[in-house]
Amino acid sequence: MIMNKFTNYGFDQEILTAIDKLGYVQPTKVQEELFPVILSQQDAIVKSQTGSGKTAAFALPILQQLDWNIRTPQVLVLTPTRELALQIKDDMFHLGRYKRMNVQAVFGKMSFEGQRKQLAQRTHVVVGTPGRVLDHLIQHTLDVSEVAYLVIDEADEMFTMGFEEEMQKILERLPKQRQTILLSATLDERIETLCQQQMHQPAFIDVISKRNVFDVIEQQAYEAVGDKDQLLEDVLMKENPDSAIIFCNTQEMVNHVANEVIGYPEATRKLHGGMDQKDRIQVITDFKLGYFRYLVATDVAARGLDIEKVELVINYDVPSDVQTYVHRIGRTGRKDQQGKAITLVTPNEMGMLHKLESELAITLSMQPTITEGMRKTYEQAFVSKRSQNRTLVKEKSLAFKEDIMKLHINAGKKTKMRPGDVVGAITSIEGILATDIGVISIVDVSTFVEILNGKGQLVFDALQDLPIKGRIRRINKANVSQYEIDYYNQENK
Ligand code: AMP
Repeated sequence: MIMNKFTNYGFDQEILTAIDKLGYVQPTKVQEELFPVILSQQDAIVKSQTGSGKTAAFALPILQQLDWNIRTPQVLVLTPTRELALQIKDDMFHLGRYKRMNVQAVFGKMSFEGQRKQLAQRTHVVVGTPGRVLDHLIQHTLDVSEVAYLVIDEADEMFTMGFEEEMQKILERLPKQRQTILLSATLDERIETLCQQQMHQPAFIDVISKRNVFDVIEQQAYEAVGDKDQLLEDVLMKENPDSAIIFCNTQEMVNHVANEVIGYPEATRKLHGGMDQKDRIQVITDFKLGYFRYLVATDVAARGLDIEKVELVINYDVPSDVQTYVHRIGRTGRKDQQGKAITLVTPNEMGMLHKLESELAITLSMQPTITEGMRKTYEQAFVSKRSQNRTLVKEKSLAFKEDIMKLHINAGKKTKMRPGDVVGAITSIEGILATDIGVISIVDVSTFVEILNGKGQLVFDALQDLPIKGRIRRINKANVSQYEIDYYNQENK
């Protein structure tokens, strides 16, 4: 008998279907260890990194135990960055889709009012950054009285980013009777104190030391004797990666590298903290899906983000500390694939490189200068790849496409539409049960409803002449992603 299958943990069929649709065959290491702990109501401290499957490791057993009927959130997930909040929200939404779990993300720089409206709907899971979560608590727009699960993700980064005070204030407001799960790449005294204060006999799970990132990432360096810009061009030509992240230490340098160095604008995009939040999310989404090859970024992209198949990481600037170096190179070599990281070093930066090497007890393999002759040999492959069509990554939501159809109804809050009106109309169609209806989102003048189990077309046809709340409504197949609905929601104050 194979022991480590998802069916061995007692997950409901709705959860198993989502796992199946997402193509997960085997639980990862952290999942194998964390599932039984969470299912047996124990607190947990998890030392793991993104890429290990840690989101599903806490999400699945928590989703399994939620009660759909409770109107206010039962789970609060705290994350240090907005990007991570959206990523976790998206993963939990997909995993809980067949259980009709409503997952909301709350973070700064987006409309508070839009979030308030979303939170006023039945919400099972809230994923958010500490500042905005606290704002909602203070304004009484987030009711945490039913929170039974608290997840603190990337706890080390929470402290680094100075969220300690906000976190404490949030913790004070949560019910004492709850399960707490803390995840972190590194553990220090502050995190241990937090765990002692907030947890009851936690299980300790360490999956980091079991897979050493340095074993799967080849690390090289080039000395930039003359021009670093030319060196970057040469390295990109030699390596000719399908996808690469080029890290710089400052926004100015990102602009310089993206605009002036990489002479390939259609395949290059930028990511830094000075950009509009919406643009940042769009860039990350497009990069994940494989729309372009080179992402030039500051360290906002180094933490937490789950981007599959980054072939190469280039440190255009040598990072100033070990943690940053490890996080940057950790964007490649994920899920047991081999990865490569190349650091470009000027003579001035050599001291910093040696310091990194000695602190990490590693030696980067110094590469010979790329000569004009070598360039010529690489050029043909480089030019030929430029003209090839790119293979796009399959979007997670596409996995559900044949099974789930999202419908748009042209009536919403303004016409006092309620979930019950939608459910009432749809379940009156012959052959449709309440369990065929997925997540319903009602916004100002629109309602989005998911029809499950391949019954979308049937419902779509029937609703053409079936009144909802007394009137025939215009129904469309909604070709929108969850992200777009979120933005729509947030912007319609
Ligand atoms: P995370 O560490 O949570 O960021 O997950 C990394 C990636 O692995 C995500 O894209 C997940 O969807 C994916 N993933 C999680 N669990 C599994 C699994 N058991 N099998 C395959 N992929 C998985």
